[in-house]
Amino acid sequence: MLHVVFDLDDTPFFTRDAVRKAYVRAGVIMPDDMWGKPWRFWTTAEVHARKIREYEKMIHDDELIPATPAMTVMRELAQTGHHVYLLTGASKMTSQRLLMREGVHPRELTGMQFNCSSLDKAKHLRNLLVVAPSVVYIDDDEEFAQHAPAGVTFVHYIGQSKARLIKDITWTPSS
Ligand SMILES: [Mg+2]
Repeated sequence: MLHVVFDLDDTPFFTRDAVRKAYVRAGVIMPDDMWGKPWRFWTTAEVHARKIREYEKMIHDDELIPATPAMTVMRELAQTGHHVYLLTGASKMTSQRLLMREGVHPRELTGMQFNCSSLDKAKHLRNLLVVAPSVVYIDDDEEFAQHAPAGVTFVHYIGQSKARLIKDITWTPSS
């Protein structure tokens, strides 16, 4: 069984445009260098609450948040008995809604951590290495490679196809 950990924003979902738009509707411009970082690093709880409401409307209206080939790989791993985890700077409610939209129930994942900074992600990956013989972590943030603990195979997600990503994580699907 593999242990594969996924980031959320711009990994199983291309969320960047939607997140930026939701913040604009909440009345602020998100700084470019805050992409992928938890909201508490740059804005207030009040703004974030407004953004969440806007973002949830977008999810509900099926506006602008496409799933990627990484989502397909994530679903197939989870539904064939592998250990799949979510490790994200995004919030719990929006992450779970997006996953459920794509047919993945939270209970099908082995673990989930939300509102994570890079340091939080590195800490959770180190904890996972205590129980998992090997760990693959997939994230669109190339700089995270510097934070990835020794023993974690880091895969930089840039929108590669399902077939390419399967090769990158050295998974041999059984079917
Ligand atoms: Mg990301």
